[in-house]
Amino acid sequence: MLRLARAGRITTAEAIRRFTIRRGSILRFNDAGRCAALDGVRCGVHEGRPLACRLYPLGLERDGDAERFVTLEPATGSLGVYGDDATVDDFLAAQDVAPHLAAVAQYATLIPVFRDHIALVADFERVEPRELWRRARREAMAESNYDPNSLIDALFDADRFTGIASDPVVAVESHLGALAAMISESADASALAAAAVLLAVSLGYSPAEAEVPSAITSGRQKTSPPAD
Ligand code: SF4
Repeated sequence: MLRLARAGRITTAEAIRRFTIRRGSILRFNDAGRCAALDGVRCGVHEGRPLACRLYPLGLERDGDAERFVTLEPATGSLGVYGDDATVDDFLAAQDVAPHLAAVAQYATLIPVFRDHIALVADFERVEPRELWRRARREAMAESNYDPNSLIDALFDADRFTGIASDPVVAVESHLGALAAMISESADASALAAAAVLLAVSLGYSPAEAEVPSAITSGRQKTSPPAD
């Protein structure tokens, strides 16, 4: 979002409003399948286009810690080629993918920060963990009628913390610090869980990556008194 906003010479708040749905987490397309960032037939934010756009026609698959690039089914009207003789490495270099992958890795460090803090503040004697995560997934994926969530707003609207003139690399550092502080100050397990799930999904991870392991939650759930 930072790079997209800088390319459009607008704030991240404006970029979220103009180009995205689901609170800034995915690009907005109209009914005719046109991206909101299209300017005529060209990308209006080419310099700051998102990672998924840079990678196409490749996709990035994750399996645990393992990552691999795969060839996607070409979209209608697209040749879906990444160069006749190019290797994947050549293509990634030409698309300047490295800074985006580096930023993904930096933001991914917040996932365990979320998990640890949720484990601390959630009252698993009162809240059933599966219900907490079911609600969190629903909130994270909702495109409308979702609850206000200042943590989610902060995940995408980095300029609130960094200033719109800052270089994206520097801005990411300040943004991460501000987010970590917000996480540590929050006592709202539901809001934290929804933000954690949306962060994980936005970075290309499974929503389950955000969840507190059951080995931790099960030890803190109410247990029935033993039968006589
Ligand atoms: S590359 Fe295409 S899909 Fe991606 S932001 Fe630009 S116009 Fe939208």
